[in-house]
Amino acid sequence: MFMKRDLGLLGEKQFDVLVIGGGIYGVCAAWDAALRGLSVALIEKKDFGSATSSNSLKIIHGGLRYLQHADFKRMRESISERSTLMRIAPHLVHPLPCLMPTYGHAVKGREVMALALFINDLVGFDRNKGGDPQKSIPGGRIVSKSECRDLIPSVDEEGLTGAALWYDCQVYNAERMLISILHSAVEAGAVVANYVEMTRFTKSGERITGVQAKDAISGDTFEIRAQVIINNTGPWVNDILRRLNGRQVETNTKLSSAMNIVVRRQLFSKYAVGVWSKSNFADSDAIISKGSRLYFITPWRNYSVIGTTHGHYKGEANEFQISEDDVGTFLSELNQALPTLHLKREDICLVYSGMLPVDAREQTGDVKLLKQYQIIDHKVRDGLEGLLSVVGVKYTTARDVAQRTVDRAFEKMGKTPPRCRTSETPIYGGKIEKFQDFLGEQKRRSVNNLNGEQVERLVYNYGSEYSSVLKHAKEKMDLYQPVHETTPVLKAEVVHAARNEMAIKLADVVRRRTELGTAEFPGEEALESCASIMADELAWNRSKVQSEITDTKAIYNLV
Ligand SMILES: Cc1cc2nc3c(=O)[nH]c(=O)nc-3n(C[C@H](O)[C@H](O)[C@H](O)COP(=O)(O)OP(=O)(O)OC[C@H]3O[C@@H](n4cnc5c(N)ncnc54)[C@H](O)[C@@H]3O)c2cc1C
Repeated sequence: MFMKRDLGLLGEKQFDVLVIGGGIYGVCAAWDAALRGLSVALIEKKDFGSATSSNSLKIIHGGLRYLQHADFKRMRESISERSTLMRIAPHLVHPLPCLMPTYGHAVKGREVMALALFINDLVGFDRNKGGDPQKSIPGGRIVSKSECRDLIPSVDEEGLTGAALWYDCQVYNAERMLISILHSAVEAGAVVANYVEMTRFTKSGERITGVQAKDAISGDTFEIRAQVIINNTGPWVNDILRRLNGRQVETNTKLSSAMNIVVRRQLFSKYAVGVWSKSNFADSDAIISKGSRLYFITPWRNYSVIGTTHGHYKGEANEFQISEDDVGTFLSELNQALPTLHLKREDICLVYSGMLPVDAREQTGDVKLLKQYQIIDHKVRDGLEGLLSVVGVKYTTARDVAQRTVDRAFEKMGKTPPRCRTSETPIYGGKIEKFQDFLGEQKRRSVNNLNGEQVERLVYNYGSEYSSVLKHAKEKMDLYQPVHETTPVLKAEVVHAARNEMAIKLADVVRRRTELGTAEFPGEEALESCASIMADELAWNRSKVQSEITDTKAIYNLV
């Protein structure tokens, strides 16, 4: 099934549900609604996943940190979603061992952490139920001081008593996870389009009947009609609500900024390592661990992704940018937390940043992130029929929140919601029962001289659908070749993105459909080569190629 950008279809009929926003929350809602038999449209003003959802630390949380707030409900939600995502996206979500050095005998000490790990295992007693036995999540344990030193040679030794070891999950490619869910939505019948902006609502009395939309490519405007509209625009949630012509219905959330850095080497292989900053940041709601900020150093491909820091942000969502000063502060705090790292600015190859919701009433002092998602029915709150707004807080729980949102959409249409199936339906590429067996088998059967490493990378990105990518190469053997000698990404992946995955701009392929530039600038020649494949597919002339290259370089601050 191809993702085809057909704006005619969007304007043609009345949909049951229109989702505004193609981040992880939007695509999960579109998939769920379509799977449950609704007619669904989704529009995204830029590219799918190009905002917050492609900037996460890639951790699929089991919610250990919610123990700080004794929030067992959220822990259960996270643990359950972690198991679900491992099951429905087995090629993308994998267990990640995490280590946190323990110091002294107080809140960061081994006794408290041992208790925390014990409770964590208790709350997550069923975490491996029904899952792939080759990818189970072991229980947590305390490791000795000497084992900790072996695993983290640069650890701060003063007062060290050992380390807490537990498992979370990491999503290998958060952008492909989102695109794969979108594929699944399209397979289930959803009509989706990127580069289409919702510009204003259309209304009949106090009922929202649809939206005016603008095609960012042609400049054309058109109307999309739907019974229920889901505002899934993340940081733009209030921006959308301001398009209601005079009605004041904004949510109670404001924005904060969040940031991660990508470093060009694995600082710790195999383990994610948590270290405490020496700064005075405090989560005043926390019942333990007050007084400093936690940096998580996670191994990802041949890189480390480190985060997450949070700051106040008072500007508009469209104007958000991280400054060089922010990067400098991040780096100096991190170097203080783990002085042996000696990280320099030039070690950072990419900065991930985005906006997260905070409670509007808590805008001073420490940043207080919104702890729980919100689904707002504007009929109940503002007397406005046909509109739901969603404020999500984690990539991890997007599927679960979408399930609850779609339940509400059914209720708004006066229908009993049928059973949600997204927790048991593999996403596009996820039809794999035992991941290691599947991977081994594919590597043995390797086609057309692709080596084991190449097959492995394809499986990690496309899962059981990797042969759909390679089928393009059957027409033209050259497509089995990498885009450039500096990257493992195959030319066939670029063709697949342009033909089947609605990649319209060069950056869509470089940053979201393939791994080409998700960790760092891929290099001028690789960019040229990728653009030339796109040019063949999308009939670009030389000046279009040049402008696409310039736009893509601008993302890396290279123009
Ligand atoms: C630095 C950082 C690290 C994080 N780390 C983690 C982590 O490790 N684990 C975790 O679980 N979560 C993490 N998160 C949180 C997680 O990334 C977010 O909760 C999630 O991605 C939000 O998704 P969303 O779909 O709500 O928003 P977005 O991804 O921002 O999507 C909203 C979309 O709406 C579109 N839109 C806006 N206006 C319009 C319009 N008028 N018309 C059409 N479309 C429109 C935007 O272009 C955008 O693509 C992190 C977040 C940040 C910033």
